[in-house]
Amino acid sequence: MDFLKPSRYVPMNRRRRIYEGKAKILYEGPEPGTLIQHFKDDATAFNNKKHAVIDGKGVLNNRISEYIFTQLNQLGVPTHFVRRLNMREQLIREVEIIPLEVVVRNVAAGSLSTRLGIPEGQQLPRSIIEFYYKNDELNDPMVSEEHITAFGWASPQDLDDIMALAIRVNDFLSGLFLGVGIRLVDFKIEFGRLFEGDMMRIVLADEISPDSCRLWDNASGDKLDKDRFRRDMGGMLEAYQEVARRLGILNDNSSSQPSGPVPVN
Ligand code: UDP
Repeated sequence: MDFLKPSRYVPMNRRRRIYEGKAKILYEGPEPGTLIQHFKDDATAFNNKKHAVIDGKGVLNNRISEYIFTQLNQLGVPTHFVRRLNMREQLIREVEIIPLEVVVRNVAAGSLSTRLGIPEGQQLPRSIIEFYYKNDELNDPMVSEEHITAFGWASPQDLDDIMALAIRVNDFLSGLFLGVGIRLVDFKIEFGRLFEGDMMRIVLADEISPDSCRLWDNASGDKLDKDRFRRDMGGMLEAYQEVARRLGILNDNSSSQPSGPVPVN
């Protein structure tokens, strides 16, 4: 597969932009069937009603997501990730995104607590998978398997694959984070269809980072995720750095501004 090899450098301003989301941009990749996923510093919440730029967040999410997707690939969980290209970008395989946000929960928090009145922090009797239809105009409404198959967003076979993969991702992530003193409360993942000849496979897509997970320090209960931004708690970048540091991605003495030009005296 040619695109697995290092490829010719294409200047940033000559690349075709395929899609721009809230926190990422997708550019045309160096080979057919590939894309470049660029992590921005933008933080948004409540369907874009709240917005800020957190210098260095994109760099951290690129690294954290690379770390997780690489290990998942090695474990045989298929993903769109090929390799990291630079501080903010990774090479990915082009997939047809399934318009669902798949949320896996281990502990009650956020919308589950609000909707069902279950106190935040209560361990759930078992892991729960929920589906939300990706549609900003509708505020990503929660949907059931019935809606998903009836409207053709995914087939029953696709859904079986998605749920089996979601459980494997949850098992892996729960153990990974527990090993570094972090409780994995819940997370959101997305899947895509990867076409190879006349074969189609469901693969994990998008990203896994503190933007899309709830991560609580095991000992103190401190939030190490995007809730720091959603709930105006401050210290978001420091929390993301702490996650990266514990995963062994950043060394202890790395600076708090991992991106941007360095002044030369
Ligand atoms: N989540 C996400 N993107 C979304 C909605 C949720 O990444 O658009 C993640 C969120 O960070 C949390 C999990 O999915 O880890 C469950 O979120 P919840 O349904 O509780 O929604 P929220 O409380 O964020 O509205």
